Amino acid sequence: MTNVGDMVGIRRGLSRTAQKNLRVRRDVLDRSRPVVMLSGMAADYLTRIHSIHHALGIPAGYPARRHLPIQREARRLVVAARAADDGQPVRLSPRAAAAWKKMQAAAAREGVNLLPLSGFRSVARQTAIIRQKLADGQTLPAILRLVAAPGCSEHHTGRALDLGDSNHIALDVDFAKTPAFRWLMKRAGEFGFRLSYPLKNRHGIDYEPWHWFCHW
Ligand SMILES: [Zn+2]
Repeated sequence: MTNVGDMVGIRRGLSRTAQKNLRVRRDVLDRSRPVVMLSGMAADYLTRIHSIHHALGIPAGYPARRHLPIQREARRLVVAARAADDGQPVRLSPRAAAAWKKMQAAAAREGVNLLPLSGFRSVARQTAIIRQKLADGQTLPAILRLVAAPGCSEHHTGRALDLGDSNHIALDVDFAKTPAFRWLMKRAGEFGFRLSYPLKNRHGIDYEPWHWFCHW
């Protein structure tokens, strides 16, 4: 793992040129702060993401151009629910799980039955999903309008949740026509959730009314 602290720590004993390079390198790292990489994100994790992108043919500039930062993979997860469609465990970070439970209870009190469909997804799983779509004959640009590249999915963090309700458990834009979606648009912010991919979003990802991210 390499971080700025390590780089400053090894500065002593370097040639003048090497010190200059180190300064430049540190500046580059400092400027990249918004990409959520510095505070302990392991260099080997970033290397792994880059090599997966390379293998899939995803251009190196993809995260920056699409405003999709590299997301950390969650280490602590709890089973927050069972998916309403296939019964699989929906895993979330402990904090997101607590926020979700409060939001679901508040919605239920107002007659809205929010149902979880998907939570945490690993980088390996995201890679397998994209490989399968490529094998099925879809083009990479078409795939990347529907799913984020491995490493860039909010689902890696355990804080993203795909939602349906009792009348609608498919991940499609018709969820936007449901009372559940209208409730979420009005109230989800009170529980720390926001809609990540609204219509015509800057990430170039198609409208996803079902995908909510807990920023707490
Ligand atoms: Zn999602």
